[in-house]
Amino acid sequence: MGLSIPTIKDSEFEVAKTAVSRIYPKALEILEGLVRIPGIAWDAFDEQQLVLSAESVKDLFEGTEIFDEVEILQAHYGDGKLGAPAVVATRKAKNSRPTILLYAHHDVQPPGDESLWDSAPFDPEVRNGRLYGRGAADDKAGVVAHYAAVSALAELAGADFDLGLAVFIEGEEEAGSPSFKNFLSQYRDKLEADVIIVADSGNWSTTVPAITTTLRGLVSLELEVRTLGHAVHSGMYGGAVPDAMMAFIKIMDSIWDENGSVSILGLISNQTSDLVYSEDQLRADSGLLPSTLPIGTGGILPRIWTKPALSIIGLDYPSVALSSNTLIPSLKAKLSLRIAPGEDPERALEALKGHILAHNPLGAEISFGAVELGKPFSLGESGWAKSLAEQALELAYGHKSVDIGIGGSIPFIAELERVYQSAQVLVTGVEDPDSRAHSPNESLHLESFRSAILAQLLFLLGGNQISQQ
Ligand SMILES: [Zn+2]
Repeated sequence: MGLSIPTIKDSEFEVAKTAVSRIYPKALEILEGLVRIPGIAWDAFDEQQLVLSAESVKDLFEGTEIFDEVEILQAHYGDGKLGAPAVVATRKAKNSRPTILLYAHHDVQPPGDESLWDSAPFDPEVRNGRLYGRGAADDKAGVVAHYAAVSALAELAGADFDLGLAVFIEGEEEAGSPSFKNFLSQYRDKLEADVIIVADSGNWSTTVPAITTTLRGLVSLELEVRTLGHAVHSGMYGGAVPDAMMAFIKIMDSIWDENGSVSILGLISNQTSDLVYSEDQLRADSGLLPSTLPIGTGGILPRIWTKPALSIIGLDYPSVALSSNTLIPSLKAKLSLRIAPGEDPERALEALKGHILAHNPLGAEISFGAVELGKPFSLGESGWAKSLAEQALELAYGHKSVDIGIGGSIPFIAELERVYQSAQVLVTGVEDPDSRAHSPNESLHLESFRSAILAQLLFLLGGNQISQQ
């Protein structure tokens, strides 16, 4: 696309800032109201709360009076089960303007042990510039940031603006989005957009905004290793025939090099990040024991964001309590391979299997079992959305935005990419390193929340000026 990216003018910035100041107290009040609704999409919790939560979100977007349609939608999955209620609001683009899809989720994690909270999880409380409560950050702040930004857009650009919008507020993200795939295929047209803004991630800090540009993917593989037709006495045959564990250890030893980096040939490893994350910080955050060495080489962030990593996450073998002097004939293990952005999970799976079969010095019998594949994500460099978002973030936070990665996977993002192949997916959010999403004392940094609303408003105002002709 050869279209020019608008530059956000100082005067526009000032007007937007004033509009956000006006709407911010209301946005905070709305957020507090949403936090009071314990909408949890897990079977053990009251479904009615989720319905109530969806209805409140629907009322919110309906109240803006800028959408052609605001509805609560659900999709089936599995054997006849119905997914949680999602809110979808749509408005058609006019005059060749792009359509922007705003994603967030209104369901929350369960509160966990309430005694670990300093204030009740569903009774929001502001302390030291932060709003405490379950969902205050993840992801009701995302919902309200979308609401506040579109409301301010209508105020500044007039209700008749040209930009197309689709709002998709999911109701089951914390439960693993079981009906997401079906939802997208059923309502594909409603959610069709040129840019998708996912407000469910975070910033580098409360003052340094970020765009999440990469997510690792996942390959998990179960395998069985056999060396003997049956168990035998270790005193009679030990020393002449190997047990299954010896064969397994020899295979696994070849999978990491002397630094602990994955040495499977052909796997992609990506470039480094300029951000600094020290070994001390890594030790503090991960609980690495003082005498234990970290693994991998090069910068720490690329090791956890953009390079492969392999762990053995399950093993079927006799427990210590049940052990006897026996050569164990077979074992089962489950391997988890995190794959770099840009990697193809199918190809990585074949590389992993090929490596195991080729590094089996004892000639054990190997069979492969269950597989799970998750696609990685990486934001392409082309397209106007990222540069407009960088401008908007820098103005709103007063600091240049940085590109960050996530070492884990967010499967619904790969799904969005798969379904809307030409859309640019911008992963942003309001969380910061102290937000403690999913944990007791989850909280939202209020100044970052205000900046997030402003950044999003600036982005929408810029998008409203882009002609795709
Ligand atoms: Zn979330």
